Amino acid sequence: MVHFVGAGPGAKDLITLRGKKLIEEADVIIYAGSLVNPQLLEYAPDHCGVHDSKDLNLEEVIAIIRDAEAQGKNTVRLHTGDPSIYGAIREQMDILDELGIDYDVTPGVSSFCGAAAALKMEYTLPGISQSVIIIRMDGRTKVPERESVEALSSHGATMVFFLSSFDSKRLSERLINAGLSPDTPCAVVYKATWDDEKSFVCSLKSLFETMKAHDIKKTALIIVGEAVAQTGYERSKLYDSDFTTEYRMGTDKNAKDGH
Ligand code: SAH
Repeated sequence: MVHFVGAGPGAKDLITLRGKKLIEEADVIIYAGSLVNPQLLEYAPDHCGVHDSKDLNLEEVIAIIRDAEAQGKNTVRLHTGDPSIYGAIREQMDILDELGIDYDVTPGVSSFCGAAAALKMEYTLPGISQSVIIIRMDGRTKVPERESVEALSSHGATMVFFLSSFDSKRLSERLINAGLSPDTPCAVVYKATWDDEKSFVCSLKSLFETMKAHDIKKTALIIVGEAVAQTGYERSKLYDSDFTTEYRMGTDKNAKDGH
């Protein structure tokens, strides 16, 4: 049996209880060493074989899994954050389906949640933005045209850029050329929830200089949008004393919408 497990954003105690238990019971672990905190491997039993997938291609990963299966072993495939986001798990699961190998998936805390925690930030501020766009700028991996930086920036939603810190100069130029103000608030979170986490709040026009000054080129998220300023929002309806919900009678007795 193969368990795809979300390792969480970095801190050893931000894996789920289920994920930790699966590591404790693993015979083989294949972990994404470029991003997963190796401290998580401390949960593994002594006999467990550990492989770093950053040195392996897809076929080599599958070969390790097949070998473990042949010996009736439990494999944990440990992915950073949540495996559903830029995790390249579909291709692995499809091959396992072809091979008739059983698997399941355990979610994890994605780094974009770790970044919000680092910034003590709420992405969805009433009156500012009610949507979060998870996005990457195209590089060696292509992005469909309709999901380009320019196309998605037109919504004014909070944008969280994964895998895009390799060229923050170009990213900010593209966003500004697409119509965003150079003063649009931005944040950079490097290694969210790790011991050496760093976070900075800046603006689109100072994004590149900020990242350069702190030598941040990878393992970072760039968050763009008015919500980053965390000001000027409206209070939520949910806790408004006027507002009646399914659970609580407010002074406005006609209100029906509890959301
Ligand atoms: N599945 C992962 C994302 C994998 S893609 C998740 O849910 O978080 C790898 C990218 O994620 C990195 O290039 C970086 O942009 C981001 N990332 C992963 N861990 C991070 C962390 N702790 N802090 C900041 N960014 C991180």
